[in-house]
Amino acid sequence: MARASPLAVVLLATSCGGLASLEGVSDTPVPRPAAPPPVAARHMAAAPKTSSVTAPLPVEPPAIPACNEQPPQWFLMRRTYVYDSGSSVTERSRKKELHRAALEYRTRHYGRVPGAGDPSWPARPASLQVRKGRFFGLEVMMNERVLVALGCVEERIHRDCGEIYAPVALSGWRDYDTFTNGEVSNHRFGIAIDVDYGLNPCCGCIAAISDRPLCKKPVASPFERTVIPRCWVDTFARYGFYWLGYDQLEDTMHFEFLGDPERIEHDESPSSLVSIPSP
Ligand SMILES: [Zn+2]
Repeated sequence: MARASPLAVVLLATSCGGLASLEGVSDTPVPRPAAPPPVAARHMAAAPKTSSVTAPLPVEPPAIPACNEQPPQWFLMRRTYVYDSGSSVTERSRKKELHRAALEYRTRHYGRVPGAGDPSWPARPASLQVRKGRFFGLEVMMNERVLVALGCVEERIHRDCGEIYAPVALSGWRDYDTFTNGEVSNHRFGIAIDVDYGLNPCCGCIAAISDRPLCKKPVASPFERTVIPRCWVDTFARYGFYWLGYDQLEDTMHFEFLGDPERIEHDESPSSLVSIPSP
């Protein structure tokens, strides 16, 4: 599918091509060598109820983890590695190396996506690290660690933004790509979420989306192309999520976790799997 961005980007993209189909996906948690992290129970899908002949004991509600605040990492932002048709050979080569580094980081941290990356990178399939969670009461499939960060985003939104917006449709993990020419969607890694596809357009994506009235009018900022409140975008950013409304795609429905997954919760240490100095 072609995109309609005014910028002649070589790595054409339609990052949010529609709602994901979740059929055939296992939401069974993957066994881990250590105890699982104390995920935010209210954001996880309800477990099946079991019967018991004993009187129920009072149970303390699981603590909602306090997440570290952290910025999205620059080398994972697509503008770091996407180049346009006017780029020199040297610039293209540099961008391709940056793209490879970003893909390696995502593969090592979130798992292997079929057909993407170097087979020598050790990783379990990304699909096996995806679980069903909840965001504002709606089910969404995402990487199990990123769901924890998403829970912290929701807590913070309730506290700082109030009830000014309530999503009606979400899309997270998907098993197909909507990019062309080698770019790999963060939806395939389970680290991206689309909020209200029908209300928040991707103005640099396929014509069916970019033709919407919100994409046609001249604007001073991408916030005029979305119904998602600015407070939401800022809150997502506190916990490492990058809003693609800032990207040349102007994909206003799309947030992706570009923070360090090893730093989401307070008791985890910074990752050193891939370290790339800032330019
Ligand atoms: Zn998306």
